[in-house]
Amino acid sequence: MTVQHAAELLSTARRGLALTGAGVSAESGIPTFRGEGGLWTQYNPIKVASIEYFMADPSAYWKVSKDRGRVALAAQPNPGHRALAALEAAGHLAAVVTQNTDGLHQDSGSRRVIEVHGSGRTVQCLDCGNREARSEVQSRLDVEMPPRCKVCGGSFLKPTVVLFGEAMPVAAVQEAFGLARQADVMLVVGSSLLVYPAAEIPLVALRSGAPMIVVNAEPTPFDKLAEVVIHGKSGEVLPEIVELIDG
Ligand code: NAD
Ligand code: ZN
Repeated sequence: MTVQHAAELLSTARRGLALTGAGVSAESGIPTFRGEGGLWTQYNPIKVASIEYFMADPSAYWKVSKDRGRVALAAQPNPGHRALAALEAAGHLAAVVTQNTDGLHQDSGSRRVIEVHGSGRTVQCLDCGNREARSEVQSRLDVEMPPRCKVCGGSFLKPTVVLFGEAMPVAAVQEAFGLARQADVMLVVGSSLLVYPAAEIPLVALRSGAPMIVVNAEPTPFDKLAEVVIHGKSGEVLPEIVELIDG
């Protein structure tokens, strides 16, 4: 059985690496971009989540971001996040590389989390560089649109997420690729594997000899490269794997 096979691979792993995408947080109530019910069915994120769009009109950006932020800030980790934290605590996973910006891996107890698309929990002023908690900014969006910097009064407060058209954080990307080269198992969870260079990370692990496990609700372009493919919900599949390892 595939879940059994995944448990066997992970139980012997000592430098396993997980790569997660929006799917791992879907069961926490945060919509994915792609896939069934994804945000792409409502609007085009390449437009509304691009740096050009933000710079042209921060208010328009924040109008969309306000609703998404409300959902993300209230979200709690689900059993999928907790299973990944348990795999790290048991010494099977070295780290979680995530494309998510919601902070839920850290909330669930994962210690080494590499956020290759930044964090949505912080907001930075593009004029003076001052940083504030997203929750602080969120609470004044009803009366101030766009939100203004508390230090310089500027109106370009941007969540510290990587928007389309922006560079990825160099140190995080280097760390992720370094871990992929050393990985003895590669576990991909809840990612459509269509966004590069994040999708390149499992390919590097594969080339370094790590078998790949894919857990995703829908087929991905890498399924044929994987040793184990499980099409299901990460909040159900990952706890099953952990239970089998714990015996
Ligand atoms: P994606 O939205 O492109 O793909 C998500 C994948 O998850 C889909 O293939 C879908 O079939 C699968 N999925 C949906 N529900 C699932 C579940 N319960 N269990 C397992 N799989 C499930 O996500 P992506 O590949 O991560 O890329 C989109 C980009 O959007 C990322 O770069 C990320 O930064 C950003 N994003 C982040 C969040 C967040 O922080 N939670 C949410 C939406 C988008
Ligand atoms: Zn400022």
